[in-house]
Amino acid sequence: MKKLEDIFKTAVTQAKSIIPSQPYYFKQKNSDGVEQEYIITPDQFEKSLLNKFDDFSTFLKKFINHLEGQKNIISAFASTPISFSDAWNMKSEELIAEDVVSLTKSGGHFQFNQIPNGPNKSGSGLYQNGYAKGLVHSLGSGLIKGFRHKTGGVYEEDSLNEMGKFTYATPNNSSGMMEYRFAEKFSKELGIPLVYIITQWFKYDTKFEKLNNWIYMTGVAKVVENSNHPHEPIKLQLITKDEALKLLGNLLDAFQAKGDFRIRPPMPEHLKLGWSYNKIKSDKKKRDLIIEYAHKNHLRCPGDLCGNAQFKSLKNSNIHIGHRISQNWNSQNSGVADVHHPYNLYLSCSKCNISLSDKYPTEIDTLINEMGTIGDWLMKDLLFK
Ligand SMILES: [Zn+2]
Repeated sequence: MKKLEDIFKTAVTQAKSIIPSQPYYFKQKNSDGVEQEYIITPDQFEKSLLNKFDDFSTFLKKFINHLEGQKNIISAFASTPISFSDAWNMKSEELIAEDVVSLTKSGGHFQFNQIPNGPNKSGSGLYQNGYAKGLVHSLGSGLIKGFRHKTGGVYEEDSLNEMGKFTYATPNNSSGMMEYRFAEKFSKELGIPLVYIITQWFKYDTKFEKLNNWIYMTGVAKVVENSNHPHEPIKLQLITKDEALKLLGNLLDAFQAKGDFRIRPPMPEHLKLGWSYNKIKSDKKKRDLIIEYAHKNHLRCPGDLCGNAQFKSLKNSNIHIGHRISQNWNSQNSGVADVHHPYNLYLSCSKCNISLSDKYPTEIDTLINEMGTIGDWLMKDLLFK
């Protein structure tokens, strides 16, 4: 299990390692649809990467705000994947009222474009037809919050297949390219994919709304692949609003917790159910596997009443399965957690067991983080032979 800062650094190092060693030449259409030649040197790639992703604490502040911004937009506007992909695959530049009725019935959400207004033209970049460029940033953070797509626009390479999988074209600059790669590697290392907001817009002719002649539809997608060349497109999968908010919630919980918080990737259902407290207690084989793992890895009891005894030195009957969030604490706090989840379970000696459960919530995690919970072992290598 790694700390967030280490995960961040690993992702940066991995993104750096795929920078070509020679200047990279390519041809690509610019925002006006005209093909142009480009050249990016290794040095430019590296500068672009480090410009945004060098210092963890600077990144952290921006990243939290960026996630919160995404959360609000997705909460208010995200459409269902089915409705969003139906609209996309109509391949029609213009919608009429009947189309919109059908698409909203399957969970589509529409809104007018935001007409730039006032001296700062403050409308969201996601909902303005004036921009040709496909990438929209969380203003001031440098981070891409989403993509825009217009049927028949300049983004011909953008594609969405029938399984809701996106291929989103690569920008023609090293900054966008390196951000794609960082996002993929960071997602993979975290075990929680980053999400992007996708908007598509259509002509929608409405009487007496002369300037509102476009409507926008919002979708949300998560990072699903990991490419090894800066110029590869990014691959995304459309997801539901619920899934997106859950991912953002997990990321926010992790990044807002200061200090030693360590991220735990989502656990597959079969492990969660198969290795819950009651299953481990009643299945001698599973219990033995866990104790064997603690022996093999020379782990010690996190408590100090026994002087951090090595599990190897204890009789199996004196090794206890404890709850990080105790059953008692949870019942007094109207059951906020799934206390029998493997991530909530750890080993201790029977002597320390009771004193440890009083230490929730602050002290105990510091103690257990070193050793890992039973869930951490399962996700690591407990089941590898
Ligand atoms: Zn102990």
